[in-house]
Amino acid sequence: MATPVVREIAVIGGGITGLAAAQALLEEPGTVVTVFEADPDVGGKLRASELAGVTVDEGAESMLAVRPEATGLAAAVGLRPSIVHPVTQTAAVLSHGRLRPLPPGLVSGVPTDLRALAASGVMSTRGLLRLPLDQCLGRPRLTQDVSVGEFVGRRLGREVVDRLVEPLLAGVYAGDPDQLSLKMANPSLFRQLARDDSLLAAAAATRSGSAVTAGARRGPAFAGLRGGVARLAAKTADAVRAGGGIIRTGTAVDRLRRVRQRWEVHTGDAAREFDGLVVAVPAAQAGALLRTSAPFAAMQIAAIDYASVAVVTLAYPSEEGAKLEGSGFLVPPVEGYSIKGVTYATNKWEWLARDARSSSPRGMVILRASLGRYGDAAVLEHDDAELAELVRADLASIVGLAPRTLAERVTRWDHALPQYRVGHVELVQRARDALLDAPGVALAGAAYDGVGIASCIASGRQGARKVVRDLIENGVQAHA
Ligand SMILES: Cc1cc2nc3c(=O)[nH]c(=O)nc-3n(C[C@H](O)[C@H](O)[C@H](O)COP(=O)(O)OP(=O)(O)OC[C@H]3O[C@@H](n4cnc5c(N)ncnc54)[C@H](O)[C@@H]3O)c2cc1C
Repeated sequence: MATPVVREIAVIGGGITGLAAAQALLEEPGTVVTVFEADPDVGGKLRASELAGVTVDEGAESMLAVRPEATGLAAAVGLRPSIVHPVTQTAAVLSHGRLRPLPPGLVSGVPTDLRALAASGVMSTRGLLRLPLDQCLGRPRLTQDVSVGEFVGRRLGREVVDRLVEPLLAGVYAGDPDQLSLKMANPSLFRQLARDDSLLAAAAATRSGSAVTAGARRGPAFAGLRGGVARLAAKTADAVRAGGGIIRTGTAVDRLRRVRQRWEVHTGDAAREFDGLVVAVPAAQAGALLRTSAPFAAMQIAAIDYASVAVVTLAYPSEEGAKLEGSGFLVPPVEGYSIKGVTYATNKWEWLARDARSSSPRGMVILRASLGRYGDAAVLEHDDAELAELVRADLASIVGLAPRTLAERVTRWDHALPQYRVGHVELVQRARDALLDAPGVALAGAAYDGVGIASCIASGRQGARKVVRDLIENGVQAHA
């Protein structure tokens, strides 16, 4: 009988990146996969728990649907019937003390519809009059990475950064716009800026380009899952197990060592050899794990910093729902509040509204508020009760909600969102190049290729392909 081809690969980290990598590896014939996850459960930032009898996501709550990876994975692991789209996506931004509709046509906060921007009341007349100066500043001719805040501020005036760019990007990265890489935050806009005469023209071209792509895919930009996006991780883990993969939860990897062309994975007192590795943990942990085997790569990735954030989820009596319009609002720091954004979760997701109605006799509405920005984490020093009180006070002041809630939950995400500083793309390339000397290992996850779930899935799959390719090129085809 022929010996089956066996290639043993370890995936370090059971977040959505690691799980997507494991699933992709299992599609390679003759590949055996073990996922090591430090926490008792898989999922990482995809986690849900009950609040007042209703399951609500604690971390990520929606997935980009204009890219195929997230909804595609959901469908592949049996969640197709659970894929849903937001009921409303009309968001507001707090500006000069009032909630105003977020103007349509923003490209990472850069306006493309100046009439709509003026009508929204978000910017002052002075700020609006400053915008066209962009067309007199000469061609941007961007070839090198720049900071989003610095570049947009120079072209369009600081008010656009403070009132639009900051709140929109803070919602994704919790980042400082003056340090955030434009090449990472919006690669299409960055490319367009090498060609167009002004930032306004490049943003307009980027918008019509993405409208064409979105139109070709037809359908809403975002999707969720009935029961919460956290189900994507749990179901992907089920699929990995069903495909023969092993998932070892509660098992932190504390060292990785290159030994005789293979990799030794250390967990406490135990060590096991593998042919290849997908390292899908946050950058600080990845750097620590690779410090001895790949010191230069480890040094590069350890320089990727993270922002800490907190999500406060609140259930209010249903009568408060009349005060909530659209899907929520953003709050720029110039407005002086603690919260940086609020999602009206029961307005946004129909399944959640239904669950909330049926779980309490008088019904309830559920909101998720987020706090914490890179370089300004002072607000997170408050204890949970104080944090919830700050959120209630902000909501009372901005929306007029009564200060009494039915239930509250505070979720802290320490060092959770990677900060893509100017030059991030090149830094990641240097780290990956440094690993060429140690084939069979891939770096994957939010730290490198994008924070969104879809980007993480793509990164995990790319890591899986890279490891298999390395092993084949280096003749590691099989061992009995
Ligand atoms: C509050 C919040 C809201 C978000 N909302 C959205 C959203 O709505 N939509 C969206 O697309 N994205 C959202 N994101 C971003 C997205 O959720 C994350 O970027 C993504 O889930 C990261 O996945 P990952 O697998 O790369 O990393 P992680 O989820 O961090 O997973 C890494 C895993 O590695 C494990 N680990 C760490 N060290 C070790 C070790 N030594 N040994 C073994 N295991 C280890 C960890 O326990 C963890 O489970 C949000 C993020 C946060 C924090």
